[in-house]
Amino acid sequence: MQFMSTWADSNGQRLVYLAPEVLAIFDRYIQGEQEAEAGGILLGHVRGAHLELLEATVPTPKDRRLKYFFERLLHGHRSIAEQRWRESNGLIRYLGEWHTHPEDHPTPSGLDVTEWQKLAAARRDGRPLLAVIVGRKSLRVEYMQSNGVRHQLHSVSL
Ligand SMILES: [Zn+2]
Repeated sequence: MQFMSTWADSNGQRLVYLAPEVLAIFDRYIQGEQEAEAGGILLGHVRGAHLELLEATVPTPKDRRLKYFFERLLHGHRSIAEQRWRESNGLIRYLGEWHTHPEDHPTPSGLDVTEWQKLAAARRDGRPLLAVIVGRKSLRVEYMQSNGVRHQLHSVSL
C-alpha cells in the first residue's frame, strides 16, 4: 500500500486514521491522464478529537460519466451515509469527502475549496469537514471549518 494511514494536524493534537479498506479504495481509483475524477464520501468513528475512517464510498456508474466530482455527489452516497448511521446507532458518521486528481502530489482547486466550505457549513454537528484528495503518489488531507479556515494534515509514522 503506497498511501500513509495516520495523519495529524500541525500540533499533533488531532489524529486521523485511515483503515486499510479506505486506503485500498484510494489505491484502486488513482487517476490516470485520460480518466475522469472519482470520489465519494468518508464514513467512520469520531473518537474525541480524533477520526477513524472506516469506509470510503465509491463512484456509481452515474458518477463516472461526469468529469468533475462536485457536480455529482448526492444520490447514493448520502443514502449510504444515512443507512450506516442508522445501522450503527449513530456510531458511524459522515466525516467528509474524497476525490482524485491526476497529479502526483495533489493540491485543491479553487472550486474544491469553495465546495468544501459549503459542505462544512452544511454540517449539523458543527465539526470540520475532512477533505481528502487522492493523487498518484500522495494524499492531500485537510480539515475545512465552516468559516473557511483550513488545516492541512501531515502523515505520521507511529
Ligand atoms: Zn479537486
